[in-house]
Amino acid sequence: MKCSLCGFEFKEEEGQAACKGCPVSRSCSLVKCPNCGYEIPKEPGFVKALKKWKERIYEAKR
Ligand SMILES: [Zn+2]
Repeated sequence: MKCSLCGFEFKEEEGQAACKGCPVSRSCSLVKCPNCGYEIPKEPGFVKALKKWKERIYEAKR
């Protein structure tokens, strides 16, 4: 995923690891950018599925 603040691209797991020290909850819904520390809301599963579905349609048209 891509940081909307600095544009740094990183894996979702990397961002989660950056936020694991969070004392409020172990599994918060934010992903922290390893580059600038900006916290981005995680993409819900259905959004990912929708993106994949759209990509498939684009590929079929080609
Ligand atoms: Zn960032």
